[in-house]
Amino acid sequence: MLTDCVPGWPVGEAGHIKLRSPLPLSRGVRRGWAAGLAAERKPVMEIRKGIGVSAGVVVCAATVYSPDELRIGRRSIPITEIARERNRLLEAITASSDDIRTLRDATSRNLGKETGAIFDFHLGLLNDPELLKTFNEGIDKFHLTAEYAVHKALRDYGRIFLEHSNPLFRDRVKDIYDIERRLVHKLIGRERGRIADITEPSVLVAHDLTPSQMASLNKGRVRAIAIEAGGQTSHSAIIANSMGIPAVLGLENITHEVTTGDMMIVNGFSGLVIINPDEATIAEHRRYEERAHRYENSLAEIRDLPARTTDGVDITLLGNIEFPHEIANTLAKGAQGIGLYRTEFLYLASEKEPTEEDHYNAYMEVAEKMAGKPVVIRTLDLGADKYFLQGDQPKEDNPFLGCRSIRLCLGNMRMFKTQLRALLRASAHGDIRIMFPMISHVMELRQAKMMLKDVMEELDYEGIDYNRSLQVGMMIEVPSAALMCHAYVHDVNFFSIGSNDLVQYTLAVDRGNQKVASLYTAAHPAVLSLIRTVIRQSQKGKIGVSLCGEMAGEKEFTVLLLGMGMRSLSIAPHNIPLIKKVIRSTNLRDAQKIARKVMSFEHPQQVTAYLHDETRKLVPDIFAVESPTG
Ligand code: PEP
Ligand code: MG
Repeated sequence: MLTDCVPGWPVGEAGHIKLRSPLPLSRGVRRGWAAGLAAERKPVMEIRKGIGVSAGVVVCAATVYSPDELRIGRRSIPITEIARERNRLLEAITASSDDIRTLRDATSRNLGKETGAIFDFHLGLLNDPELLKTFNEGIDKFHLTAEYAVHKALRDYGRIFLEHSNPLFRDRVKDIYDIERRLVHKLIGRERGRIADITEPSVLVAHDLTPSQMASLNKGRVRAIAIEAGGQTSHSAIIANSMGIPAVLGLENITHEVTTGDMMIVNGFSGLVIINPDEATIAEHRRYEERAHRYENSLAEIRDLPARTTDGVDITLLGNIEFPHEIANTLAKGAQGIGLYRTEFLYLASEKEPTEEDHYNAYMEVAEKMAGKPVVIRTLDLGADKYFLQGDQPKEDNPFLGCRSIRLCLGNMRMFKTQLRALLRASAHGDIRIMFPMISHVMELRQAKMMLKDVMEELDYEGIDYNRSLQVGMMIEVPSAALMCHAYVHDVNFFSIGSNDLVQYTLAVDRGNQKVASLYTAAHPAVLSLIRTVIRQSQKGKIGVSLCGEMAGEKEFTVLLLGMGMRSLSIAPHNIPLIKKVIRSTNLRDAQKIARKVMSFEHPQQVTAYLHDETRKLVPDIFAVESPTG
């Protein structure tokens, strides 16, 4: 609700802007718009900086997606169709005005006149004679379709409003886009754009994508991703990385700055995104794109070589997967096993709750394809940003601190048992291991193990085979578990450090919120100190330890983790060759020295800069490929 006055605009009793003609559409502005359209074939290059979360460089045209967004391409109409387009436009304006009046009257009845008056702004905008002139000019002079004329004009005005120094103008942008969507929907008679509609190779530009939307992306068509929301280890980022799709997140307002069809460059190394690059920039980045490809292919040469340090210590490299179909690629990248299978994606990718057979079939597929190699299956980590059948679940105020993960499973025995039964049944057919996520209290682990024992007894009773000595592990992703890990060593065979959540919970920084993304870093000494504690306690307790958060796939952390004593990493498959390359260039004694020095730092920035320099000295070529000039 507006409570202040826009200079020069009349304000109603309740503080709402009362406008008949809400857009300051001077002739000059319209002329500017017309000139802009004429010059459209020479769009202005714009550079944006976001968070690079999945490496690679892509030069490609954009497809803008949002649940309400329609993708409007520029299409010329013959002169003979101008009158028809003008008529369609008038009809759309009339129909939209009727809809808004109905909405206003209903809102006034239910919520009071003052609230209903909000729609007067929309009505004023829709019936603004200057705006109509602008639309018509697009049709008459530039032979645009009515929908493109509307889309283009309102997007341009939206931009003018967005850049306005008065926040009240900026606030009105949403209304302008709302009117645009309403009119365009009327004109093309369609309700929603769908990701599945993307048929051309594209940079997908969106506000945000749910994990299941991400998982359904077609890698051949979606060549890169540019998203407004999200942080370094949000689930969109993790899946993009897993799929090897270059991605930049945290690009505020990008869906309003890019129009479908605009050329874009996405640099997942640096987080830079270039909109409407000029010819020279395109040529430079195409060379860069090719070089990055060549380098990636060259890494394939070390696929069958061991991940062995220069002084002969072998490191285990495992893969993180979300779906069984990722196994082929994971093996192709040289994984020695699966260190994290995120089974909640079975739920996220399906409209109905998976049955025991659905679980069993998925686990069997993984076990068979991995042919005796270890597979760590993590029990459901639903909740927080991973909701199944969203509408049915009560919303929580702080879902990351709420009923998520193991808490959700322990409170839903039927669902949990279904998974445990399938998992145990599949354990008879491969080296399957089980891992419980987000344990924050010893009692949670014991309860989960009790459930497992119950299910084992059920299977015994039914005469169903399973692996009686199946290894049981837990994730360490909450500070309480890291600090007290000595209390868990007798109850599990292994720990796996979930650094994505450990960073979030240690630093009190939401891992998916771009507004605090600059505070989110695994290089924080508090996080490193917890990781060191877990490694030491696992060594003391003689149990296995691995790290499966995104940090394991970030080349700058490899030397540090090895120096701290870590001997197993579970990584997004795409990054396995890169990390193997760093390991094969590292001497463990040097790594230990580096780790000691890092642990003396107090600032994350010191840690990051030092590790960057040390890693660069070891493997200069992997840094060279990240620079546009090589
Ligand atoms: C983690 O938290 O580091 C982890 C691997 O789990 P997820 O990213 O699925 O929460
Ligand atoms: Mg986690």
